[in-house]
Amino acid sequence: MWDEELDFSSSPLTVGNIVDIIGQDGIREMSEIVKVHCMLCGETFIGPKDKAGMFIKGHKEYHLWETTLYDTLGGP
Ligand SMILES: [Zn+2]
Repeated sequence: MWDEELDFSSSPLTVGNIVDIIGQDGIREMSEIVKVHCMLCGETFIGPKDKAGMFIKGHKEYHLWETTLYDTLGGP
């Protein structure tokens, strides 16, 4: 059941949607759109699972780097 007041309800990038994605690397069928967020900074990503994984991994690496930098410099 769609909420008709939401303009973006028809967007293929809606959480729970199963979509076929045509990209430069190939065609992927049955890709589920998921929503993830970074527990450290709260940034949110909506998209296919592999991209969501890259988002999480990217944030993990980034925040780890941030922490390492602070440790190295003796804190902010
Ligand atoms: Zn983050």
